[in-house]
Amino acid sequence: MSEYLFAPQPQASLAIQGSSKRFPVHRIYCVGRNFSEHAKEMGAVVEKGVPVFFMKPADAIIQSADVPYPSATQDLHHEVEMVLALGQPISETMTLENALHCIYAYGVGLDLTRRDLQALAKEKRLPWDTSKGFDASAPISTLVPATDAEISPDTRLQLRVNGTLRQSAVLGDMIYSCADVLVALSKLFTLKAGDLIFMGTPAGVAALVPGDTYIAELDGVVSLTGRII
Ligand code: MN
Repeated sequence: MSEYLFAPQPQASLAIQGSSKRFPVHRIYCVGRNFSEHAKEMGAVVEKGVPVFFMKPADAIIQSADVPYPSATQDLHHEVEMVLALGQPISETMTLENALHCIYAYGVGLDLTRRDLQALAKEKRLPWDTSKGFDASAPISTLVPATDAEISPDTRLQLRVNGTLRQSAVLGDMIYSCADVLVALSKLFTLKAGDLIFMGTPAGVAALVPGDTYIAELDGVVSLTGRII
């Protein structure tokens, strides 16, 4: 007999390359404006200070190749991003030197965005939840354990839509490094094993429409293929 009034929703999880176990997802944190060319295209002032953070619910993850076009928008945008997966908690005393050891795996994902709702929210200084945290707003690849992933400042992050290159940058172009982001986040939240972090997107964000197919790549590490339906 369960202690719950009704059956809880299933645990959100991701496949892990080379393992039969799945990665149980706790929270999804996202970094905004982490590539200066993208910040500029969004009309934001680029200044290195404190990163911009927002969140998506864990069950916004979608692992099926078919991604439904969301309700309530006329302007769904793609943002290709590297995704970090934490394998251990991070305390608020974590140093930059030690932060990277907490990354269990890397993936690539899309921070899907209802750009029209986000523009309205920005204009009215309202929260971004409806523009960023909707159902199926987080397609994410299989995770690649850090021990098998060669990540460097030269690693290229890119997105092709219908075969055309839309976004491309190297990780060295990020304003805030993975360690910077983990340390800054740990001052705001108790980071736990199972947390994911979307690391921000390069310039070139644009619309997706039903029928579009995409390939997101963290070059030499992992890719994600899907279709908007
Ligand atoms: Mn983003």
